[in-house]
Amino acid sequence: MSKNRVAHSAAVLLILLASLGQAESEGQDRSQPVQYRQEPAPLTLALIRGNLYEVRGGSGANGGAYIRDQSVLVIDAKMTEDSARALVEKIAELTTAPISWLVLTHSDGDHVNGLPGFPRGVPLVAHRNAKRDMDAAFEDDAFKDGLNWMILMMDTGVLPIVLKPKDNEEKRVEIHHFGPAHTDSDLVVFFPEEKVAFVGDLLFFERDPLIHLHKNGTFRGLVAALKGLLALDAEIYLSGHSGPAGKEDVKTLLAGLEEKQAKIESLIAQNKSLEDVKAAFGVPAEPSAVSGRPRRPGLVEIIYRELTEKKPGR
Ligand SMILES: [Zn+2]
Repeated sequence: MSKNRVAHSAAVLLILLASLGQAESEGQDRSQPVQYRQEPAPLTLALIRGNLYEVRGGSGANGGAYIRDQSVLVIDAKMTEDSARALVEKIAELTTAPISWLVLTHSDGDHVNGLPGFPRGVPLVAHRNAKRDMDAAFEDDAFKDGLNWMILMMDTGVLPIVLKPKDNEEKRVEIHHFGPAHTDSDLVVFFPEEKVAFVGDLLFFERDPLIHLHKNGTFRGLVAALKGLLALDAEIYLSGHSGPAGKEDVKTLLAGLEEKQAKIESLIAQNKSLEDVKAAFGVPAEPSAVSGRPRRPGLVEIIYRELTEKKPGR
């Protein structure tokens, strides 16, 4: 199987929107604060650019919304039904349009567990591996049967979709999959006109990157994904748990990771053990299990294991 071997591919959603939608935001309240809030806070829609909003606050990761008067595209589903409903209500304050698309950046619970709070039948766009994870994680079969999966194969080609055939304005949205990185279901939603990319959990700035080995995430993949993000003609990167970032921020993050990799490579060349390498980075000795569950290895250990081509599992 060559699953997950494709380094990068893109699908494009061609969304037809009514020209009536042009002016729908005039007169709307655009005074939402633009600061990112770390602490749990009421759910808000922060205007980023054009008709693009970042979904902040509530329970779960930040997401996004492209809001017109004929159609709405939502990115990520919050972590609880309540927060999802709060999001749906916030959107309804700005438009009477139904949610036309819900794109999931990956399968983690803080991005998808709010799904039951969305209207039934909303078309879901996700990587097929997200469906795999969610089929396993969601226990309510009736709920699962009601999900309206639209795109599951994101590894190849370009997929044009006509959202509303009667509408007459085309809106291009690109869905990118750069291969397994944070997980093997990562999608990036890129709006070329606005130069804004919603990247899910591919970017963290206040902590080490998070790589879910149990979902086939990889460090090499993350490096490749960051390069993919830089290759986009994007000016603003919006992620699940950090504030808005620019291209320089992503470059700095990538350089830091490559530096860490180079240092670990040189230690491996000196026949240093994993424990030596962790000590060199000041990583404290950790118990092998926490609360009865196997400890998830940190970044240095993940890099070391990949570079020494050991299996990531224990
Ligand atoms: Zn995540």
